[in-house]
Amino acid sequence: MPVRYEEPVYRPPSEAASYLLHVTYGCSHNRCSYCAMYLQKTFRVRPLEQVRQDIEAAACAYPVTDKVFLLDGDAMTLSSARLLPVLESLRAAFPRLRRVSAYSNADSVLDKSDAELRELQEAGLGLLYFGLESGDDPTLERVVKGATAREYTDAVLRSKAAGIKASVMGLIGIAGRERWRTHAEATARVVSEMSPRFFSLLTVTPVPGTSFHEEVQSGRITLPDARETLEELRAILQGLECNGTIFRSNHASNYLPLAGRLPQDRERLVALVDDALDGRLELKPEWLRGL
Ligand code: SF4
Repeated sequence: MPVRYEEPVYRPPSEAASYLLHVTYGCSHNRCSYCAMYLQKTFRVRPLEQVRQDIEAAACAYPVTDKVFLLDGDAMTLSSARLLPVLESLRAAFPRLRRVSAYSNADSVLDKSDAELRELQEAGLGLLYFGLESGDDPTLERVVKGATAREYTDAVLRSKAAGIKASVMGLIGIAGRERWRTHAEATARVVSEMSPRFFSLLTVTPVPGTSFHEEVQSGRITLPDARETLEELRAILQGLECNGTIFRSNHASNYLPLAGRLPQDRERLVALVDDALDGRLELKPEWLRGL
């Protein structure tokens, strides 16, 4: 069956049941200092003909597919002229299709007009995942994120205005002990303005081969310990003034899995962090944590 993947393949945990379709290989940015996901891949746009062949094969193998995730690291970098035929083919192939989603950098949305974003939404693009990581610009610059907090905010707000939901990720520990409070407060402020549909927090894990790992090894940045990650989590939660946001910290990298709706669950979530800080709630053991 000609359904082809170039390993390694990554997708958000919430896309576990989705059909994964390569429309690109790798990441168009591929420079974030903490990210090793696509270091082995040279960014390429996949020929439309091959994408259509995969869709045809998948339509035979999994005709009841209702969710599709476009690979790889920033599929939204494709122009709307390249994305629209893919979305049209998906709709034609899968009668039960409910949602198409992709990872997106800020520029990939900002490069498109409001009319283009609306057209993509009408063609089935329903959700974009944004790795904001921090709302603090010096931190974003340090990790070579390639965009400012303002640009990420505008990208999320413009996606939402076009009817495309946003799922935003933040990274606990990314600013180190040196700058954690500034990072936490700025992240809470920026995510509050975005009020994305989903906001999740992960804990940074230095991966050998990345420059972030080198910075940690050489002592240029000091990672928080388990207790300090909870304090950072608490500071972010405390500052969140989101409306209609589903919050999750249940990624494998976190010490304390939490879930709730904002704003109504904020105080309950903060109280759970306090319970963990006071030892009334057990943390995930180190051996159970993952990337
Ligand atoms: S934009 Fe995303 S996929 Fe690309 S290097 Fe940065 S974190 Fe990795």
